[in-house]
Amino acid sequence: MKDLLAECWMTGVGTHGLTPFSPLMMGSPNLLDIHACRPDFRGALFQFLIGLLQTAYAPEDQDEWRERLAAPPDAKTLEQVFNPYRHAFLLENDGPAFLQDLSLPVDVNQLPVHELLIDAGSDSNLHFNKQSATPGMCDACFAQALLTLQLNAPSGGRGIRTSLRGGGPLTVLLLPAQGDTTLWQKLWLNVLPWDALTYPPVKSAGDVLPWLAPTRTSDGKNAADTPPEAVHPLQTYWGMPRRIRRDDSTLGHGDCAVCGAAGVRLTHHYRTRHGGTNYTGAWKHPLTPYSLDPKGEKPPLPIKGRYAQSGYRNWLGLVLGKDDHQPDAAQVVSHYTMKIRQPRTRLWCFGYDMSNMKAECWYDSTLPVHSVPIDQQSIFVRTTKELLDVADETAKALRTHVKAAWFKRPGDVKEEPAIAQSFWQESEIAFYYWLERLSTSDVADPSARAEIYRGWLLATHRLALSLFERWAMSAPIEDMNLERVVKARSGLVKQLNHGKATKPLWKFVNEYDKEHT
Ligand SMILES: [Zn+2]
Repeated sequence: MKDLLAECWMTGVGTHGLTPFSPLMMGSPNLLDIHACRPDFRGALFQFLIGLLQTAYAPEDQDEWRERLAAPPDAKTLEQVFNPYRHAFLLENDGPAFLQDLSLPVDVNQLPVHELLIDAGSDSNLHFNKQSATPGMCDACFAQALLTLQLNAPSGGRGIRTSLRGGGPLTVLLLPAQGDTTLWQKLWLNVLPWDALTYPPVKSAGDVLPWLAPTRTSDGKNAADTPPEAVHPLQTYWGMPRRIRRDDSTLGHGDCAVCGAAGVRLTHHYRTRHGGTNYTGAWKHPLTPYSLDPKGEKPPLPIKGRYAQSGYRNWLGLVLGKDDHQPDAAQVVSHYTMKIRQPRTRLWCFGYDMSNMKAECWYDSTLPVHSVPIDQQSIFVRTTKELLDVADETAKALRTHVKAAWFKRPGDVKEEPAIAQSFWQESEIAFYYWLERLSTSDVADPSARAEIYRGWLLATHRLALSLFERWAMSAPIEDMNLERVVKARSGLVKQLNHGKATKPLWKFVNEYDKEHT
């Protein structure tokens, strides 16, 4: 396998089961999804195809975007569109090779190919890195591992550069809310019209696809940093922080250690050197949310993969962005909620939780996306924040009072994250129910707000008390002090009614009721 644009090296979910496909076929009505042997590979393949479309087939404006959503390109159209880039997407070549260093010196480190996997040597939840006696990767897995590493590259010691979005970034992608959609609909939702990106014209392909030019190294005599203005902002989709080249001298034949493909050509080693491209300055990847420096002095900070773990707690930051820009929603998401709004979508959030070079966990979650007309957006954001503050306060109150029920001196006890976590998990369905109600109501209307506040306050109150019973009674019988439990329970009730977040909402509800009964 050599040509990543024309050959069928990816596996799709088709209308009749799994099927190999090439990027030329991504507009096919028979392709529904991408199948990959690892979830990090799947996320990377989505970004690969979105990056290709953004680079070679970006619509001029929203009208063209809508036309292409409804009428996907056939293979012939994409072949023409990709033609100028054909030479850049060869996995092996004497000259430029996909995501590999053009001028890597010969005498550099040789590493076993499985070290391309981000969780190699870690105890993460992927468990796909079990070693075989002679581990080797098929061409398709080698391409996917390379892509996944360059997109997510963690820190790894001196001179080992992280991805353009830092180590283990969060990626967010819009997906259609209804299930039976094509791959094209899933991909195209994440492509931005050229006029929304406001990028300057591309002067040289090497500014966008860095492996076409000698690497901008960050060590030695010609060391340089690489801010977006030194190359082209579109490079954000094609960052190459690691200097890597496949080692063709140890190619072999056998079964792929990652996907299990039998009797295929195997890559056993790659060559690498530190001092790859050091991405600095104000890079902003459209598929990642960023926090802004309150003083506006430091560059925007990309959100990390672990942000995908926390359920609805981060809904506001991920979907609409917070008022304090901690974080702002990813550009692709804010473009959707401000300008597109149809078809209805979900947000797929994924990424690694990295502790330096160690992969702790892979997170993958989806959230509903709600958006409201622009003139209602600010009150919608404010009201959603009120609901989230109630949840936050309730989770904390629950934890405090369960500990008070358990222990004589609860302040001395270490953190018990499972207590608050149980509240977040079990209130999720209710939160999304009330959020949906909020998004379809006239938020400025006090009767609608009173109903939503009441519904959410009662739901969280009931859940907190039922979880309190469950946790308080889970202490061993000999340690249980009923008097302490009863006291802690009444403390919880008091806080649920008079907390900083709950009290003003109860007040609003009660005053509304008084005036209207
Ligand atoms: Zn494989």
